Amino acid sequence: MNPEILSRVLLQGGTVIDLQARTVRRADVLVAGGRIEKVEGSIEEVGGAEVIDCKGKHIAPGFMDMHCHLREPGREDEETIASGTAAALAGGFTRVCPMPNTDPAIDTEAQVRFETRRAEDANCARVHPVGCCTKGRQGKELAEIGAMVSAGAVAFSDDGSAIADAQVMRRVLEYCKAFDVPVISHCEVKELVEGIANEGRMSTKLGLKSAPDVAESAQAARDILLAEFTGARLHIAHVSAKATVDLIRWAKERGVQVTAETCPHYFTLTEDALAGFDANYKVNPPLRTEADRRAVIAGLADGTIDAIATDHAPHLKGEKEAEFDAAPPGIIGFETAFSLGYEQLVLTKALSLTDYIARLATAPRRILNLPAASTAVGSEAELVVLDLKAEWTYAPDRVLSLSRNSPFIGRTMRGRVAAVLLGDRLFRF
Ligand SMILES: [Zn+2]
Ligand SMILES: [Zn+2]
Repeated sequence: MNPEILSRVLLQGGTVIDLQARTVRRADVLVAGGRIEKVEGSIEEVGGAEVIDCKGKHIAPGFMDMHCHLREPGREDEETIASGTAAALAGGFTRVCPMPNTDPAIDTEAQVRFETRRAEDANCARVHPVGCCTKGRQGKELAEIGAMVSAGAVAFSDDGSAIADAQVMRRVLEYCKAFDVPVISHCEVKELVEGIANEGRMSTKLGLKSAPDVAESAQAARDILLAEFTGARLHIAHVSAKATVDLIRWAKERGVQVTAETCPHYFTLTEDALAGFDANYKVNPPLRTEADRRAVIAGLADGTIDAIATDHAPHLKGEKEAEFDAAPPGIIGFETAFSLGYEQLVLTKALSLTDYIARLATAPRRILNLPAASTAVGSEAELVVLDLKAEWTYAPDRVLSLSRNSPFIGRTMRGRVAAVLLGDRLFRF
């Protein structure tokens, strides 16, 4: 992707969303040398600044996706760090956390450095790697957590699998506590899982192998109790079930250091989408019932669920065309996340615009100990320009990811990312 390099740029006529002051106000933003120099009602700046017309648009801090899969190393035919971070920018994500279930898995300091180096070469969205909790994601021996922290890993997870052994999970939590980094739990009790359709009405009707919601919530309950016992920080990935939302709410009330994320597909779709046997609706955990979908939205609205992440999971067309039970789970998500959330959460009035943007921008940085997302004077420009009135169709030819496994291709959506300003680089979409 070729950005315009601009030493001085004036974003003129837009509405600025300040997440720290919690204000939304009409203001011009002048960026010089990649830093925000002025934010004022009206800036009469000539002096060679490139003027970007932002009338009718909103300007917010760049989003951060704390859970995605970039497939490098190992499956560069599905996605690379370069293609994935370009697709992320098109979705307004200026920072992403790739999960370590690559081939080989990211379980050493050298592997973490490899990922950050590849991201620097690509020069698109910034990459903050997540390292494995256990060697080779085998769930047995602890990985080199301390060394990976010093190389820049911001969290630890065996995502793709749960850590089945409670004693290993306890040790992982204790070890990560020493470095004040969260453990991200992919909650799934394997013994309860036969397939990847929500166990219930639809799986019976369609004859699909299934997983009950308790496969997620039982693991979440165990991990919450272990987090309370160890005093460590736990983050629950891709929350899909009402019972899990209830448990997290209970845990937060108890003072357990637990945070959580959900993904756009869990607040947009239900198991009813499986009726056509299209594997582009196959995700893990599975799409669940309308009651679960509503509980996820309520969890986002009251802050039980802190963050929205994509779980962007590229797969090739051929793989997804396999029979439903055999196809790999996961969908791409960077380029549609903002619009789906805007449609399902803001236009429905479940969340205010600022609360919604905070779930995308503030919460992930807070959870991962990174500096707050800011539109304040003096901060580095890391801004997204949003056109909330735009209606657009996610056409196959505009997909920037190397894979196209999205159930939202062809869908017309409201609200889109018009541009991203990252330092002195302007990306227009
Ligand atoms: Zn997962
Ligand atoms: Zn994942």
